[in-house]
Amino acid sequence: MAQFKLADRLEKLPPYLFAEIDRIKAQVAARGVDIISLGIGDPDMPTPDFIIEAMKKALEKPANHAYPSYAGMPAYREAVADWYKMRFGASLDPKTEVVSLIGSKEGIAHFPLAFVNPGDLVLVCTPNYPVYNIATEFAGGVVKFVPLTEGNSFLPDLDAIDEATWVKAKAIFVNYPNNPTAAMADEAFYVKLIKLAKQYNVIVVHDTAYTEIYYNENNRPLSIMSVPGGKDVAIEFHSLSKTYNMTGWRIGMAVGNPDLVHGLGKIKENVDSGVFQAVQEAGIAALREGEPFAAELRAIYKQRRDTVIAALKKAGIRCNVPESTFYIWAHVPEGYTSSAFVTKVLQETGVVVTPGNGFGAPGEGYFRISLTVNDARLEEAVSRIANL
Ligand SMILES: *Cc1c(COP(=O)(O)O)cnc(C)c1O
Repeated sequence: MAQFKLADRLEKLPPYLFAEIDRIKAQVAARGVDIISLGIGDPDMPTPDFIIEAMKKALEKPANHAYPSYAGMPAYREAVADWYKMRFGASLDPKTEVVSLIGSKEGIAHFPLAFVNPGDLVLVCTPNYPVYNIATEFAGGVVKFVPLTEGNSFLPDLDAIDEATWVKAKAIFVNYPNNPTAAMADEAFYVKLIKLAKQYNVIVVHDTAYTEIYYNENNRPLSIMSVPGGKDVAIEFHSLSKTYNMTGWRIGMAVGNPDLVHGLGKIKENVDSGVFQAVQEAGIAALREGEPFAAELRAIYKQRRDTVIAALKKAGIRCNVPESTFYIWAHVPEGYTSSAFVTKVLQETGVVVTPGNGFGAPGEGYFRISLTVNDARLEEAVSRIANL
């Protein structure tokens, strides 16, 4: 067999921090232990029927069988703009300020190719969804991590970024509600970020996959598009995946500054041919009729959250009570590293949780629990942890 060496960009990828967990998980499973995974960020419940019905109808239309337009159907982009108006009060021009995505991960991964030249500096708030730094590096950019610490409510300390860094930075990746810390950002944070971005001509890349997974009606997550000046400096990535249990369908959107949206569209024009139109029609149904379903989903996650919080409390494990996302970001007990604790939990209880350092160095000392298993399994998992 001929041997082919991977490109440098793949050879340079950081080691996969969850590989060790996967190995131990296989060992524990081989002992016959019933494994419960609280490790994955993928909803366990099915896509609701009204979306599936919309998809079935859309499949029957021959017009949907052709290549879609790379930017998305006008009707889909209008549904996105209308949803942003209804949910956030933000005004977007569906023609120039909205582009469809094959899931928001696709858009996030392609975005640096449109705006980052080799050697350009890009700020990435961490712990983080790994796509931000990896996609930046694929484009040849240089990543500077900005730590998110509990002392600053897991927001980046924007004042601690020195002037020379701001001057050099091309873009900053931020993500609220945040995966993995479950933190939310308030309006004052966005106002300050927008001011700095304008002052130093830095692109704000905002990932908002979790805005609809919230638990306090009086403190709903914001879009940077609803903050004055936000659209001038930002592109915001959003997704139908988490709100409507559609992770497998691959549909999302990017909205914001028309130059940024256009640049991303240029990349997409050259690498993919858009989202299957039947999926876009299902997406329209989700965006236009999905709010009652989203409300039910929130109630389910809230119940699960309260179950887990109570069990962690009983076990003496410290954590904040998240007001959004389906994650709980908890402290590992005194005397453990993230890896040591996660390994112990897995070996002794068969429950998989994610070590915080897997998301970046400032995640050390934490672990992440995902609320994406059904009540019975979740109860079983937390009782095993509480009895550890
Ligand atoms: C799940 C997730 C996404 C991506 O979702 P898509 O399915 O690609 O739309 C993006 N960002 C974060 C932080 C996520 O957790």
